[in-house]
Amino acid sequence: MLRLENLRAGYGPVTVLQDVSLEVNAGEVVTIVGGNGAGKTTTLRAICGLIKPTGGRITVDGKDTARLSPPGIVDLGITMVPEGRQLFPFMTVRENLMLGAYKPAARARIEERMEEVLTLFPRVRERLTQLAGSLSGGEQQMVAIARGMMANPKLLMFDEPSLGLAPLIVKQVFGIVDRVVASGTTVLIVEQNIVHTLQIATRGYVLENGKVVMSDTGPALLKDPHVKRAYLGV
Ligand code: ATP
Repeated sequence: MLRLENLRAGYGPVTVLQDVSLEVNAGEVVTIVGGNGAGKTTTLRAICGLIKPTGGRITVDGKDTARLSPPGIVDLGITMVPEGRQLFPFMTVRENLMLGAYKPAARARIEERMEEVLTLFPRVRERLTQLAGSLSGGEQQMVAIARGMMANPKLLMFDEPSLGLAPLIVKQVFGIVDRVVASGTTVLIVEQNIVHTLQIATRGYVLENGKVVMSDTGPALLKDPHVKRAYLGV
């Protein structure tokens, strides 16, 4: 579904991604593991078209995304749940959700889609009329994920969904990720909580200094001596 070939990207004169090749197939849960500053968020931003690659290629179902705008990439079925949730705090939950379906195609069947998404996340339904800013961190993350699902994506990308949340809430957020997967949506996830993530990941890539240095199934990476030493402190 998604393929990155020898991707190079960065910010102005700074190259962050030196050489990133990875793929995500339909139905998979793929994770990118790496330390702070390794380039995980930058990879997701490049996929969304928020930064333009300076080398290599990104294709979605074989279509090169180089000339597409971020909304054009959403049209191909790729949506991101950004780090820090980025809801509009003074808008209601319903209004925030509606912003997830801003493309004309999604807008045409917005009520139908809203119903599907609320069936998937009943807790969000209970909060529809509240201001997003009045919700707890975990509830806001749930709304951010629901908003991502409003575009009816083929691939939903998560950037650190459990960041700053208490352990019990982290468990709930992972429960929601499971629900997204069960609904048939393919997932690419970047997450500090790598034990939990590798347990649910079909495959994972280890990113160091802007390069993919290792890839394997989630459970195999969890047992790998380098991963254990570098990322699990054992
Ligand atoms: P983290 O867990 O810290 O978010 P990450 O792997 O997601 O790590 P990135 O956010 O992709 O890392 O950052 C990779 C590098 O790019 C870092 O050195 C960072 O300082 C730099 N960087 C990130 N955003 C920008 C920006 N907007 N302008 C310039 N440099 C940036």
